[in-house]
Amino acid sequence: MERQIYLDHAATTQPAPEVVQQMLPWLSGRYGNPSARYQLGQEADRCIAGARKQVAALIGADEGELYFTSGGTESDNWVLRACLSDRQDGKRHIITTGIEHHAILNTCARLEKEGAKVSYVMPDSEGRVDVRDIEREIQEDTVLISVMYANNEIGTLQPVREIGLLAAEYGIPFHTDAVQAVGHIPIDVKTLGITWLSASAHKFHGPKGCGFLYMRKGYELPSLLCGGAQERGLRAGTENVAGIAGMGAAARVCMAHMSGDQETVRRQRDYLIRGVESAIPGARLNGHRRMRLPNNVNFSFSGLEGAALLLLLDQDGICVSSGAACNASSEKGSHVLTAIGAPEEYQRGTVRMTLGPETTREELDYVIERLKEHVFQLREMKNA
Ligand SMILES: *Cc1c(COP(=O)(O)O)cnc(C)c1O
Repeated sequence: MERQIYLDHAATTQPAPEVVQQMLPWLSGRYGNPSARYQLGQEADRCIAGARKQVAALIGADEGELYFTSGGTESDNWVLRACLSDRQDGKRHIITTGIEHHAILNTCARLEKEGAKVSYVMPDSEGRVDVRDIEREIQEDTVLISVMYANNEIGTLQPVREIGLLAAEYGIPFHTDAVQAVGHIPIDVKTLGITWLSASAHKFHGPKGCGFLYMRKGYELPSLLCGGAQERGLRAGTENVAGIAGMGAAARVCMAHMSGDQETVRRQRDYLIRGVESAIPGARLNGHRRMRLPNNVNFSFSGLEGAALLLLLDQDGICVSSGAACNASSEKGSHVLTAIGAPEEYQRGTVRMTLGPETTREELDYVIERLKEHVFQLREMKNA
């Protein structure tokens, strides 16, 4: 096989070998239903309990505060919907940002159709939201502040601690979509004033279709799905035992390697940023230079189409994204780049490169060289 350089870790990550190993028995001989009372079921139940401990440790939560879901999208939907459903007090205002993942934005749009009021706070030119702008939006009937931990396109980290403090001051619950951050940077829900937190296993070297919602003790939300009594009655449906086992293993692997990996990846990130900036004129880094995910590089190039660049890089065996993976099929430009005011002539020429712990200097040198060649070539074609 030709060489493959995978620089799309924000879209998904490769399951770690330990993760796959941990999953296999639950996909074959140990297939019992965790709710069943015989041993075959009880061992599956114990497997889930073990994974819950491992995942809780990753974010400094108690085991009892974790609810397993089908992923980030479900966790996000759950919080937004549950905050507004069955309210006796008639309150219906949510504050979020204009740069959230579509799991949040499209849910908000639906809720607005159903009568909710939503305020979208806009970030500065580096993608940071200002806590004072959030405070200005607070109303009598605000029931939730939902701000992502880190942006999936440009990697900018939000001032989560300050938002947590603000929310506490006003007695408003605070949700964060931390799908891009969990497993990549240290997170301690207890010190950050987080009420609810969404995460997804496949973004931190676990399996797809599995995630969780952290709910601070005393802030349990009504269920999204109705059915059986799984997950203490709050998330119905037979558990994804293998997926949960894999997520537990992924959490353990991330805990063990986080501090080292974080530094390695951050150095590689800065190497790639410097390399691109010195090799290619008219390259514009999107997002904050320091306050960004250790693995995120997002550049816009003037005078070319990102989609064309992506295809050319693919022929070199390099996997990158032209923005957010979830948006790849839609014609509309990036709502994030628009929100940070990226110039029009750059926006279309955007590539996101998200690194992993296995990314090497040698690979990055190759990527910079190929990128440079393709950018020059595409610009020439455009000018011809
Ligand atoms: C990937 C992602 C999601 C969706 O998670 P899934 O598990 O794929 O449903 C939500 N929010 C952010 C920020 C993401 O990056």
